[in-house]
Amino acid sequence: MKKSFYIGKVPIGDGKITIQSMTNTPTYDVNMTLAQINKLADAGADLVRVSVPDEKSAFAVKELVAKSPVPLIGDIHFGEKNAIIAIENGIQKLRINPGNMSNDAIRSIVKKCIEYEVPIRVGVNKGSSAAKSPEELAKLCVDTAKRIEDLGWNKLVLAVKSSNTVETVRAYEKLSVMTDYPLHIGLTESGAGENAVIKSSIAIGSLLLKGIGDTIRVSLAGDPVKEIIYAKKILRAVGIDNEFVEIIACPTCARTCFPVEETAAYLEKMTLNVHKRIKIAVMGCIVNGIGEGKDADFGIAGGADKSILFEKGQQVATIPNSEIMPQLMNLVEKYSHDE
Ligand code: SF4
Repeated sequence: MKKSFYIGKVPIGDGKITIQSMTNTPTYDVNMTLAQINKLADAGADLVRVSVPDEKSAFAVKELVAKSPVPLIGDIHFGEKNAIIAIENGIQKLRINPGNMSNDAIRSIVKKCIEYEVPIRVGVNKGSSAAKSPEELAKLCVDTAKRIEDLGWNKLVLAVKSSNTVETVRAYEKLSVMTDYPLHIGLTESGAGENAVIKSSIAIGSLLLKGIGDTIRVSLAGDPVKEIIYAKKILRAVGIDNEFVEIIACPTCARTCFPVEETAAYLEKMTLNVHKRIKIAVMGCIVNGIGEGKDADFGIAGGADKSILFEKGQQVATIPNSEIMPQLMNLVEKYSHDE
């Protein structure tokens, strides 16, 4: 039976997969960091992690936690000093890396976490550990968890990350059969741009399809809000989140006389935060569009100047292309309020 507990007001291990990201502002700059935390929460983050690399960042935790709309996790490396200040200032979970922390430091942190009831993520990274294989990564993580248990604490989340997709998946597969603690899944240092998105999507998606993982982070260089958007898309692609607007589009061909790709991308952006199961088809011609898009709730069969609006496979109107977007958004509005 999977262990479950709360991080602030957010449950973990109870079956719901949460999504998280990490700020990249200086944590001690409370205004800047809060602005980014708010953006992440608005985008859908359940939890946000902040680095605690120095004392002033550790003291900033107090105001950040007080004003954050979501629970905050403190990222700790090396010594225990900043961790202890962050705990005393209200951090709701800690992430420690056993690869760069002494036993004495772990002992001090665990003692404080017990006192303040702060869950800990044991986040093992291949790069900063002596582990050479997925098996060794999983073993190192479980051994650290056992040491923490022996010190009297068991609100733990485990993670074993590498920058390699296959290695990460294998490590989590091993870990998942060795423990009943909730798992934080993702790649580390996956890179930037579409390569990083593909690597993370494959690793996280394949684990989720096997029922492995309780909270996810899509780790990307750059704006962390993108991490939340991609995390949501992964949950949707693997069928865990079914309450969303799915945009389907024809692949385009010689008959296409309508900006299919742009229209689909625009609709996807405009409906990202609509939490209702709606399927919209964007089809590139009038001849085949309605037939090929009949599975959708509604859609557009695009023409050069005028397009056909259809609902459940039936034509409902012919409209000038300049009026398509407002008409489609009206239908999104109508469907999103239907019971
Ligand atoms: S819907 Fe029309 S434009 Fe799109 S692929 Fe089919 S035939 Fe081509």
